[in-house]
Amino acid sequence: MSKDAPLTVAVTGAGVVGLCAALEVQRAGHHVLLIEPGEPGGRQAASYGNATWINPGAIVPISLPGLWRKVPGFLLDRTGPFTVRWRDLPRHAGWLARFVAAGRDWDRIAICARHRYPLCKETVTDHQAYATEAGVGHLIRQQGLVYVYPDRAAFAAERRIWAMRRELGVRFSEIEEAELRRLQPELSPTYRFGARLDGAGQIADPGAYCAALAQLLEARGARRIVARATGFSLDGGRLSAVTTDQGPVACQRAVLAAGIGSAGLARLAGDHVPLISERGYHVVIPEPGVELGAGLMPSDGQMGIVSTPQGLRLAGQVELADPAAAPDWRRAKRFDAAEIDRWMGNRPSTPDGLPCIGFASGSPDIVHAFGHAHTGLTQAPATGKLVAALIDGREPPFDPTPYSARRFAR
Ligand SMILES: Cc1cc2nc3c(=O)[nH]c(=O)nc-3n(C[C@H](O)[C@H](O)[C@H](O)COP(=O)(O)OP(=O)(O)OC[C@H]3O[C@@H](n4cnc5c(N)ncnc54)[C@H](O)[C@@H]3O)c2cc1C
Repeated sequence: MSKDAPLTVAVTGAGVVGLCAALEVQRAGHHVLLIEPGEPGGRQAASYGNATWINPGAIVPISLPGLWRKVPGFLLDRTGPFTVRWRDLPRHAGWLARFVAAGRDWDRIAICARHRYPLCKETVTDHQAYATEAGVGHLIRQQGLVYVYPDRAAFAAERRIWAMRRELGVRFSEIEEAELRRLQPELSPTYRFGARLDGAGQIADPGAYCAALAQLLEARGARRIVARATGFSLDGGRLSAVTTDQGPVACQRAVLAAGIGSAGLARLAGDHVPLISERGYHVVIPEPGVELGAGLMPSDGQMGIVSTPQGLRLAGQVELADPAAAPDWRRAKRFDAAEIDRWMGNRPSTPDGLPCIGFASGSPDIVHAFGHAHTGLTQAPATGKLVAALIDGREPPFDPTPYSARRFAR
């Protein structure tokens, strides 16, 4: 609880990051205004359609050494696991170059992993606590997550990544073929080795979870404002309102958590962040005839496979393209039956594998909380705690320096 007088804090964006930040700010005793044009965690949000994983082991960025060799393939294969749309290439080339450079050697990856770990470490415990408070504790599944490989050699090829996990204290177990078959009899015989992240889990229905968190916030006194934020009223760097398409929303502090919608607002708050959409896809197959225990990640697929209340969800892939461009369903040709839910969403991605969390350059009253790319569901609770501590002027739970948007100004 804050020791000072309560502040009015406008949280812009009700995806999972904004909602967790709002909960922590409210828990600190402040008044929360939640500005969101859509439904909290609705289909417009990345938080709706993700692979549902909450993973303390999500410490490695996507860009790894050797990625540059694959870039020509990204351009040629429109339906591959990582692809770039030709017509968007000029706009994304600079970001792609920074992305590849960020992962160019293992020392950089190790540093990035150390910065990512505090954001991931307590994810399951934190989400379980929020879900219980919101009356949806059943949505949290704690059965681990299994990476499956064709054989032990394929697992060994990723030994540096697993060694980093071990060094940071992420628990995992190796699973030989017989045990893998016992755990998941329907698994393709292509996969004969597994590694289970024992402390990981799932939020079985992230859209429903976000809706429940929004209800909890409102029940505790937060006010929802159905509007799209357009900017900030600043005088000498001090904030008096978030401006929206429905008029100004008076407040003393603002949290910018608008996912892919954050870049323009961050610019108005003094930070030019290279934030683009790594678009991702899901299909949900109702009544698939299989029920998975742990979620699965095939080593070659870039798709998480999980059981959800709606059916079997396959979610993943990366497509660098304009967020507003029509989805490219050629990648899901096998899944065009009417009953299959197909979804495309925008991962809000910086090139260096870290989100932007911290004070805006243009105002000490605006706190950024965006850019979580592939792991925002996992990293939302720790982000929320950091945001609340910054707003409160408390000692942060961990060093916020690596996440500062100012790193892109250098
Ligand atoms: C296919 C796929 C699979 C994924 N799998 C996982 C996974 O298994 N585990 C994991 O941890 N992460 C995963 N992710 C990533 C995760 O979903 C995102 O990082 C996370 O949802 C980002 O949350 P957010 O709140 O920042 O953004 P969003 O969920 O996109 O929410 C942003 C909200 O801001 C609102 N908004 C936008 N502009 C404005 C504005 N101007 N004013 C007010 N509101 C605005 C939007 O309407 C939206 O509701 C996956 C993503 C995808 C696409």
